[in-house]
Amino acid sequence: MLNQKFLLAASLLMAAPLMATGAQASGELNLYSSRHYDTDERLYSEFEEQTGITINRIEDSADVLIERIKAEGVNSPADILLTVDAGRLHRAVEAGILQPIQSDVLDGAIAANLRDPDGRWHGFSQRARVIFYDKNEVSDPPQTYADLADPKYRGLICARSSSNIYMISLLASIIERKGEEAAEAWAQGLRDNLARDPEGGDTDQLRAVASGQCDIAVSNTYYFARALGGDVDGLTGSTDMFGVVFPNQGSTGTHVNISGGGVAVNAPNRENAIRFLEYLASESAQQYFAEGNNEYPVVEGVPLAAALTELTPDEGFTADDLDLSVLGKNQALAVQIYDRVGYE
Ligand code: FE
Repeated sequence: MLNQKFLLAASLLMAAPLMATGAQASGELNLYSSRHYDTDERLYSEFEEQTGITINRIEDSADVLIERIKAEGVNSPADILLTVDAGRLHRAVEAGILQPIQSDVLDGAIAANLRDPDGRWHGFSQRARVIFYDKNEVSDPPQTYADLADPKYRGLICARSSSNIYMISLLASIIERKGEEAAEAWAQGLRDNLARDPEGGDTDQLRAVASGQCDIAVSNTYYFARALGGDVDGLTGSTDMFGVVFPNQGSTGTHVNISGGGVAVNAPNRENAIRFLEYLASESAQQYFAEGNNEYPVVEGVPLAAALTELTPDEGFTADDLDLSVLGKNQALAVQIYDRVGYE
């Protein structure tokens, strides 16, 4: 990519009188994104049509993008970082690559617990971390996260590694709800109940149930929805054998996390960036954004993707309304706890 900051500086010199009137510095938006979904084309083209702003996209894994923005420093052309998990957005904040913004549009559209209190990131869709089980093997599936640590499920559970941000954020939420001691006992119990050493992603945990390696798996909702709606190797075709539990319905609610983003600290097109985030909270954008990955919209009344409707209870479910910024706050302790109990 060209050095946009340099180009911007040159055009500022020539257009100084124009800038004094508050005209937009540029008709561009540089989007650093770890998303890569087919429906995103419509998401972006609608914004471009509505605003005349051209979106330049750079796609890579979240960790690579965070490192890249950090390395680019004050010359970074990045306007927006889009990624998943409040725990990872917290890492972006810690890396110093996001800046606070204030938007009445976003404050009005997005529940306070799904955005950073300082406006450095906002959630635009939600995923739930739920329990899947083999209906033929398990007659009394775990109903809560605490149940996953019950010795009666010894040797039955597949879950991914403790280095994974979803596992870290889940434990961070348990620390907040139950305290450090209970959280450690839970991590120990879950570790003791594993059918195998943690390996692979969420889809691999579901595949392991399909193949009979374990009877119970922990996974985000969209991985199963993807199998229902499309063609996931080793899973599509076996989905009928699965039961799903949205945990903690009688208590704190099911752990949810977000896909979200924020404005980069040195954004050359800050106004466009805020406009883009506000657009993401609009009804049509919400539908594209959430549908792209079979997630739950953050704005109420926006329809769900068909596959997601299929796995969600008809009566809906209660989500944990924990302030997701605490996932970042408890992240280091969660990592320590997994380490202490020897959860790989
Ligand atoms: Fe994921």
